[in-house]
Amino acid sequence: MKIVRIFAHRVELPLVEGSYKWSGGKSISVFDSTIVGVETDSGLIGYGEVCPLGPFYLPAYAEGVRSGLRELGPHLLGMDPRELGKLNLQMDAALKGHPYVKTGIDIACWDILGKATGLPVCVLMGGRYGESVRLYRAISQVPPDEMARNVASHREQGYTRFQLKVGGDPDTDIERIRAARGVLKTTDRLVADANTGWTQHEAMRVVRAVRDLDVYIEQPCLTYEECLAVRRNTTLPFILDENIDGLDVLLRAKNDLAMDVVNLKISKLGGLTKAKQARDLCVSMGIAMTLEDSWGGDITTAAIAHFAHSTPEAFRFTSTDFNSYNTVSNADGAPRREKGFMKASESPGLGVTPKADVIGPIVLEVK
Ligand code: MG
Repeated sequence: MKIVRIFAHRVELPLVEGSYKWSGGKSISVFDSTIVGVETDSGLIGYGEVCPLGPFYLPAYAEGVRSGLRELGPHLLGMDPRELGKLNLQMDAALKGHPYVKTGIDIACWDILGKATGLPVCVLMGGRYGESVRLYRAISQVPPDEMARNVASHREQGYTRFQLKVGGDPDTDIERIRAARGVLKTTDRLVADANTGWTQHEAMRVVRAVRDLDVYIEQPCLTYEECLAVRRNTTLPFILDENIDGLDVLLRAKNDLAMDVVNLKISKLGGLTKAKQARDLCVSMGIAMTLEDSWGGDITTAAIAHFAHSTPEAFRFTSTDFNSYNTVSNADGAPRREKGFMKASESPGLGVTPKADVIGPIVLEVK
């Protein structure tokens, strides 16, 4: 089986809540997502999706996905998409870095491998663990009372895990964390995710001020060293995210005891193949994970569901269903949240079919 064509569609994903706001005043109202198609000489087509969280979150931006595909695509024509190790080696040889560019192709090739073998991606990634995957809800950054109300209303929809977007003014963030924790039950989990937004002294103040609460602290500061300093001065459970973009820093963080949970995003690592490698390493090292991506629609959500559902339950901290945040659905067959849970499809591959009327014309093609 050979890759004969790589193509992409551009889809806008407006938000149900109108906008998504996080640390440092960053905000998005319409996400720019790229649907990547990989076509083979057998007639099988696989799909992936890449959607950066704007151009100012990770070193990634939406037009960069398309530009990178034009650069990378010609190097992959003629390769067997089922040979994912070889494919990834070739992508890394042809284009240094840019993991998010490679992500859509890698996901699409997993979709092809599933379709070719008649197996769901989660089975190919290690096996389906448990009935379903527990979800968290990200709570956009607004004033404390409003955030607490949003937590409570999403709790009514069945969510039991919440990720509070903090990383703003530290005094207001302390209020945000207290207000949100106040509307939750003891069995619920609350994460205060600063998304690198606090300087080290601000983070030290916040963790001290909320030390009596049951709350996780996620990526308080910009650098690994600042986060480690904060980690060493708090007893609150600690999550690293933005700094963990590969195996070297993951191993360093394990060695430093720098985290209790790690956030693995598919496009931060470069696709499902590399996300699986990091995931399997975390399982071996005993580290629980948030299994997700930066953003996306139905195809990303399907990929997250297979990634999470193939992770042993003891190591699954949370995942998320990005497709429920968007007003636009770009594929049929994607997981739909039931209460606070979702399931990976039992159909071959990712189990999704892009909606032709939504994804629009092909915006780039390599053949
Ligand atoms: Mg995070």
